[in-house]
Amino acid sequence: MRKMTTEVVVAGAGPTGLMLANELALAGVDTSVLERMHERTGLSKALNLQPRTAEVLDLRGLLPRAKDRSFATVADGHFAVIPVCYAGWDTRHPYQLGIPQAEVEAALEERLAEQGVRVRRGHELTSFTQDADGVTITAGELQIRAKYLVACDGGRSTIRKALNMRFEGIEGQGHGVAADVRFKRTPPGVPTQWRSTTNMVTSQSPGKFIGVIPLNEPNLYRISFGDRLNRPENLRAKATDNEVRDAVTERFGPEAEIEEIRWASRFSDDSRLAEHYRVGRIFLAGDAAHTHFPAGGQGLNLGIQDAMNLGWKLAATLHNHAAPNLLDTYEAERRPVAQKVLDNVAAQNALIPTTPNQRALRALFRDLTALPEVQHHLSGMISGLAITYKTEDPHPAAGTRLPDLLLPNGDHASSLFHKGKWVLLTKTPEAQPHTEVVVAELPELPWPEITRVLIRPDGYVANTTGETKTWLT
Ligand SMILES: Cc1cc2nc3c(=O)[nH]c(=O)nc-3n(C[C@H](O)[C@H](O)[C@H](O)COP(=O)(O)OP(=O)(O)OC[C@H]3O[C@@H](n4cnc5c(N)ncnc54)[C@H](O)[C@@H]3O)c2cc1C
Repeated sequence: MRKMTTEVVVAGAGPTGLMLANELALAGVDTSVLERMHERTGLSKALNLQPRTAEVLDLRGLLPRAKDRSFATVADGHFAVIPVCYAGWDTRHPYQLGIPQAEVEAALEERLAEQGVRVRRGHELTSFTQDADGVTITAGELQIRAKYLVACDGGRSTIRKALNMRFEGIEGQGHGVAADVRFKRTPPGVPTQWRSTTNMVTSQSPGKFIGVIPLNEPNLYRISFGDRLNRPENLRAKATDNEVRDAVTERFGPEAEIEEIRWASRFSDDSRLAEHYRVGRIFLAGDAAHTHFPAGGQGLNLGIQDAMNLGWKLAATLHNHAAPNLLDTYEAERRPVAQKVLDNVAAQNALIPTTPNQRALRALFRDLTALPEVQHHLSGMISGLAITYKTEDPHPAAGTRLPDLLLPNGDHASSLFHKGKWVLLTKTPEAQPHTEVVVAELPELPWPEITRVLIRPDGYVANTTGETKTWLT
């Protein structure tokens, strides 16, 4: 048995684990990433970054590389396939970036390697024990002693199961299949570029749906189809080529000739949320903590933002800068965010009609979405821009995300966060109050009474007094 020590073990090199490892490496935390797969599959379930995730990546200077690997800028998002517009939000990124999950992972892994951390591929975490001082992790012939372990090992998380963590929610009735399909010729009426979510999905018969998204090669499409009322006896049964061909023929007719089915995978419409995100020195993040039907394109985005929330808290704790209960705020802040996503996914599922009454309800709901307030509410939810965290500061700006303001020196505020530090914006110049804090001049805010504001490394306003002591020791 080979033995080693590190500060944090991240189990799983999906988007959540890679984002977290980047955050830890940026903060100088000794990090080991274990990944059971020997190499990347190159396959992508997710295809989008929502506006808040684009902002989060921008805070770390990662957005340009994501854009380089993207294939589409989509003007809107959707709620139950009803388009919602992000324009009412004060963001520099009011769009979905169309980017395959594999490219998000590649961009994150590339940055991680630049920070000196290599993913240990072919290393499946099989067991672990924890005590008061740390966690001992076994992955094949490797035994690692670490201060903390983070389960980023996906929906079937070995770690969550070994912790006997309750993982409950809504048992779905149906299933879906996602497949990347190359046509001989693009079927008539199907767009060749992904610019909007309008008319992305159609429903042929009650409960059945099929969606088509143009991908990054000519005639290549993501086909997502399914049945909300029926599922195969074995939900893990492989999706067959015939299933894909039948669904395509039903939607486009026999003239839609398929040249190639690159991959096809079945997914369920169950929703589940871990009862806790922390057990002692072990944390859950991403799909290990929450899974749901991929309505609205939110799961990967949720995972990346879990990582952004947890990374600086672990680093501050390991570096003895943190207030004592800081690590507990991870579950307190992120679990309600996931619960809201599960709830909005359930609401979206309820709006895919299976009866005439539901069809009428959907039509009424669609009419309501024309109201600007409804658009704003729905787009804030789907984009992640409406997320706020509770703080002791009663000011309405406290706990909200800092929009990417233009600073008096001409830079955008996002550039101040590239090193993962805290940011203090003040009207009058002052000395750095702590080694972890970057100080800069405060631009005009909608609240003239604010003269000092302290922002957390993940871009959320800690307080509107600029006081650092309750957060940093
Ligand atoms: C069909 C479909 C479409 C989707 N579309 C979207 C979308 O458009 N937008 C969106 O935001 N989300 C979407 N999602 C959800 C998104 O794909 C997931 O939320 C995302 O993959 C979660 O990332 P993760 O890193 O938490 O987990 P995963 O991506 O599952 O990564 C977990 C990693 O851990 C590794 N691992 C597992 N066990 C171990 C172990 N014991 N030891 C070491 N390594 C281990 C795995 O090999 C894997 O690499 C979709 C999901 C599906 C099914």
